Amino acid sequence: MLITDHDKIETYYQALLDREQRFVGIFFVGVKTTGVFCIATCRARKPKLKNVVFYTSFKEALDNGYRPCKICKPTENANQAPEQVENAITLVKENPKEKLTDVQLRQKGISPEVVRRWFKKNYGITFQAYQRMYRINNAFQELKKGKNATHTAFDTGYESLSGFGYTFKKLVGKSPKHSKNKNIILINRLTTPLGPMFVCATDNGICLLEFVDRRKLETEFKDLQKLLKANIISGENEHIKQAKKEIEEYFKGARKTFQVTLDTPGTAFQNSVWKLFARHRIWNNYNLSKTS
Ligand SMILES: [Zn+2]
Repeated sequence: MLITDHDKIETYYQALLDREQRFVGIFFVGVKTTGVFCIATCRARKPKLKNVVFYTSFKEALDNGYRPCKICKPTENANQAPEQVENAITLVKENPKEKLTDVQLRQKGISPEVVRRWFKKNYGITFQAYQRMYRINNAFQELKKGKNATHTAFDTGYESLSGFGYTFKKLVGKSPKHSKNKNIILINRLTTPLGPMFVCATDNGICLLEFVDRRKLETEFKDLQKLLKANIISGENEHIKQAKKEIEEYFKGARKTFQVTLDTPGTAFQNSVWKLFARHRIWNNYNLSKTS
């Protein structure tokens, strides 16, 4: 969307002058005099207000004939989480058993508002929900390793056993003591020049790769869970790491085919179709963004 609201334009222009990290990915600024577009943090000399236009996505900047700036590389960097968000994610990873409060975030120089907004926009879930998924995932891994449910519940920082059982059930589907054989699908996020994507994997391989903003994503998640008789929870495994690496190489032009293992339920025919489909979807989107 082209920004026409005067207040917004003023706010964005000021953010551009101040190189404000928190506006990265919020707007893309086209510079009429040079024909390039930038993100807020660009180190290049700042254009005059009368020479800029603001868009909400980089695709629109491309559509309107602007080239990505070579200094700030907007298509590569725009979907990176801002530093504060990265720090918040690291905090969650380092303390999977704790519930981080706004006060704790502020103590680390992280604005809870920025984190909340970013999570809503990029993950479509709240930061709290993300933390909860991470805690549940951690608890699940420990359950799988054989720790007993009582021990895990107290370890995970839940106030009471019943509370733990309730949350776990809501997300994973069964109460902890019955969940040992339940399959799980780990979900993680990666950034590509085309926008953020979700990658899902089981212990056997990658089972879903999809753009975050794709409609019907919830239906896809539901179908996938039904098909694999598993529940989706936040996490990362070797397959996801491998997929992220290969996709990054792919977009850099250093890779043409994927070697990552896929976990695709269904017949051999369905699998071959699925593979083609997965590749083509990336290709089609990639070519679209290149030619437009
Ligand atoms: Zn730039």
